[in-house]
Amino acid sequence: MNGTVQNAPKVGFVSLGCPKALVDSERILTQLRVEGYAIVPSYDAADVVVVNTCGFIDAAVEESLDAIGEALEENGRVIVTGCLGKRAELIRDTHPDVLAISGPQDYSSVLAAVHAALPPKRDRFTDLLPVPDDGVGIKLTPKHYAYLKISEGCNHRCTFCIIPSMRGDLVSRPVDEVLVEAEKLVRGGVKELLVISQDTSAYGVDLRYAERTWRGSPRRTRMTELCAALGELGAWVRLHYVYPYPHVDEVIPLMAEGRILPYLDIPLQHASPRILKLMKRPGAVDKVLQRIQAWRAACPDLTLRSTFIVGFPGETEAEFGELLDFIEAAQLDRVGCFAYSPVDGAKANDLPDPVPEAVKQERLERFMTMQARISAARLAAKVGRELDVIVDEVSQGRAIARSSADAPEIDGVVHVHGAGGLRPGQFARVRVRAASEHDLEADLV
Ligand code: SF4
Repeated sequence: MNGTVQNAPKVGFVSLGCPKALVDSERILTQLRVEGYAIVPSYDAADVVVVNTCGFIDAAVEESLDAIGEALEENGRVIVTGCLGKRAELIRDTHPDVLAISGPQDYSSVLAAVHAALPPKRDRFTDLLPVPDDGVGIKLTPKHYAYLKISEGCNHRCTFCIIPSMRGDLVSRPVDEVLVEAEKLVRGGVKELLVISQDTSAYGVDLRYAERTWRGSPRRTRMTELCAALGELGAWVRLHYVYPYPHVDEVIPLMAEGRILPYLDIPLQHASPRILKLMKRPGAVDKVLQRIQAWRAACPDLTLRSTFIVGFPGETEAEFGELLDFIEAAQLDRVGCFAYSPVDGAKANDLPDPVPEAVKQERLERFMTMQARISAARLAAKVGRELDVIVDEVSQGRAIARSSADAPEIDGVVHVHGAGGLRPGQFARVRVRAASEHDLEADLV
């Protein structure tokens, strides 16, 4: 990692959790580097270690507690931040020796804790050095793609989720601020912007869609306007965590016109109106199906990704059947599915009739078997077609690339043959020769 200076105070950093937490890590690291800290890749070399934690599900809590334990064992001086920081008593009970604990996006507290544990060294030369001049700070993703966080928090109260209690209500970043950051990222070599938040379609509602100026013209702090402006930057733009509000329809024309990627990550969670009501999610399933059909008619290349929960408290076999009928009808491209697991502090824990673990697992398997068939068939339909891809890695004449249908980390990839001349971050045109359940095999055109 950049920024290692021989006499500089040295910070080790462990980043856990979702892309939103990753963006928090990038901000903290950037600020530390600006202040003259060196970021080091090992416990041994560090004077203090910051652990950015996740607290979303029980497994993540455990992973975070383990990571704190490891850092304490290997280094001894540990500062904890991130989502699990909201549960300071739990951390203190397990690891009483941590130096400080702060919650998500509490940049000033974590920086203050680092200053207290390891004062920044004032240096009359380095103090005058400008901020690293790529203008984008430290990024934890490869150079050619970047997460663009447009808001924090969420105004929904889905009963299975504790994110609003950890991260608070929606707070959007004004549109000009987001666009200036996006511009800098693109200038710094980023070719793909991954728009993230807890609820991308609610963007700007807290600011009453405030109008700002960017590139000399007025822009509103609103999802559609933000997407249209991002589409002017010449990079791929991919939307994540789009809650299924009606105005999502507005971005489909931008996708059809090629201004942003025809890709929509829209967590639907279930298809039974009663279960959706128990989850406090929008429940008009017929309308969702109609809208999916309309989106595909307007933008035939649209890739739809979604996530679902099976075995939610009270889910009957018939209601699970409704979900299977829905996924058969919707023919989604990419789907994640989880067996419901209670999250400490979530309202859904109080609901009656929990589904027995074995039934949950059996439903999960049936769901995944059905969806695997659908996803595989949708990929197989691409054989023989030409696609544009972005290259992530090249080795021994083969590239691992992604098409508009593939978000990094969560979706499949395109294995490109005869690609020795390509470089990471480059775009290429390929012809698909074969498909598996998740990935494609292709040749350079
Ligand atoms: S919309 Fe997402 S973040 Fe907000 S409460 Fe629901 S699941 Fe949690």
